Amino acid sequence: MLQTTTVGSFPKPAYLVKARNEFASGKISEEKLSQLEKKATEECIRLQERVGLDILVHGEMERGDMVTYFAERMKGFGISGLVRSYGNRFYRKPVVRGEVKREKPITVKTFQYAQSLTEKPVKGMLTGSYTMCDWSFNEYYPDRRELVLALAKEIHKEVVDLEKAGAEYIQIDEPAISTRPDEIELAIEAMKIVTDGIGAKTISHICYGDFRIMYPRILDLAVDQLDLEFANSDFSNLEIFKHPKFTKEIAVGVLDVHSHIIEKKDEVKENIRKALRAFPVQKVYIDPDCGLKTRTPEEAEEKLKVMVEAVIEIKEELGIE
Ligand SMILES: [Zn+2]
Repeated sequence: MLQTTTVGSFPKPAYLVKARNEFASGKISEEKLSQLEKKATEECIRLQERVGLDILVHGEMERGDMVTYFAERMKGFGISGLVRSYGNRFYRKPVVRGEVKREKPITVKTFQYAQSLTEKPVKGMLTGSYTMCDWSFNEYYPDRRELVLALAKEIHKEVVDLEKAGAEYIQIDEPAISTRPDEIELAIEAMKIVTDGIGAKTISHICYGDFRIMYPRILDLAVDQLDLEFANSDFSNLEIFKHPKFTKEIAVGVLDVHSHIIEKKDEVKENIRKALRAFPVQKVYIDPDCGLKTRTPEEAEEKLKVMVEAVIEIKEELGIE
């Protein structure tokens, strides 16, 4: 009960940011870059152990963004120039130019490496087919539905491979779902394909959105757990989830990842109490609102420390293990 985790990304240490730039301009080899990614992954695992989180992530040290990374490793995609996404972030937008195909596992080696470093469970982590489509240009498939479903079949293979590799938790991120509530049915259809027959616990992280429009339809996403942001909107959206009742497990975001201010423990405890008035304690996980990659490593650690301490005290208050 009240297990602690994070959404997925961690800040990259300065040496890795430097190495990624050097690799991009041909100054260091892929092998050298990969060594430093492994070093950063290990540091990320140790940080999470130090803080005392229950379910760990590998930290996404090898990823620049969550769509291009996968597109570059699948057949059928090309990559465009820089395109602006949310806020001031830029990314190279993938372009679908042929049949999409995942020819070999994309995330499995990284998962296995991260899991080999710790006794605690590490989540398998990938981007869902709806978001892959929404953040790409489509020059090949007749419509968005065809592309989303084709991607879903390929991403399903990755989920199967992660489960075979021992992942107990597999998180399929779908941040784009909330930006197009009119296509929620398509996202639901696709997720059924992605998680079909999977026994591992499946999770989907959705952010940015107005859940008022999508609730309760998001309960039909074929995953065991939804991971949603609450802290950023000061828990104002919590009421939505009370009627009709939320039926899945929920990971409740209690830290604002966009703020460099370290939350106060009492404030986080109050956030957790609010969540427990809407969701049964047996189904609640506690995490930050979103990935931590925009924070500094120090801020990420401090914020998580406060979060874990708050959870420990709430558990004591409630008399649970
Ligand atoms: Zn997010």
